[in-house]
Amino acid sequence: MNRDNSYTFTRTGSLDKFHITRPPLHISYYWLVIFGFLIGNIIYGQTNMNNLITTINFGGVNCYLLQSNTSYILIDNGYPAKRAYLEKELERAGCVPGNLKLVVLTHGDHDHAGNSIFLRDKYSVKIAMHSDDSVMVEKGDMNWKRKDKPDKFSIMFRAMSLMSFFFKPGKFETFIPDLFIDERFDFATYGFEAKIIHIPGHSKGSIGILTGDGSFVCGDFLYNLFGKPCQEFCDNLEDFKASSEKLKSLKVNTFYPGHGKPFTMEQFLKKY
Ligand SMILES: [Zn+2]
Repeated sequence: MNRDNSYTFTRTGSLDKFHITRPPLHISYYWLVIFGFLIGNIIYGQTNMNNLITTINFGGVNCYLLQSNTSYILIDNGYPAKRAYLEKELERAGCVPGNLKLVVLTHGDHDHAGNSIFLRDKYSVKIAMHSDDSVMVEKGDMNWKRKDKPDKFSIMFRAMSLMSFFFKPGKFETFIPDLFIDERFDFATYGFEAKIIHIPGHSKGSIGILTGDGSFVCGDFLYNLFGKPCQEFCDNLEDFKASSEKLKSLKVNTFYPGHGKPFTMEQFLKKY
């Protein structure tokens, strides 16, 4: 494993009450949760299964459990306040210490990575992610490698950020990832037919996981609001467009987003 510890740090976030120019560190964590909470209330508590992929919905933030025979890979893991729910849903799916082979993070935002330490300890499992997002979890800095002012930060998200103080997702525990993965990563080692697709846009180190049957777990590259794919927070539009073009050439049937219900490749092509 190659690790580069020579990181440099920029500033931490702060909120200007009347003029938000970027997602402040402590606020961005909450508004993601709020966003998920609002749309997720509609379907809260449902865990949907097909043969290969189980959606664990935290009330708006989705995790996905891939299954191959009796082995599992968990993609993202929600926020600490929902830890008991995560445990319960993993158990219900038959995922226990010993058969959970890997935890993959689609990106470093804390509503997707908040139970990593817990999972590593309980399931003796490695936490894997792209190196470009590593400092987001190592130092708790979600602005890492992001622009001072994101290319897209929608009015809806800004409004949600102002409501965010009412919600408590739990304290994020920083950690050092065990594995850095990119498009060369081979899931076959773990008995899975899947590959990593690097899709920067939402963050530099955003990755998606494309399974052999065309399911694509895309993290926050895209959301599903009101039944349509959309991107409400885009750090870098140029990256996003390049990633979108890349996806068009891949055999994707269904997108599984970090927030909201799955949508089809047809819906994606219609919009992008
Ligand atoms: Zn995110």
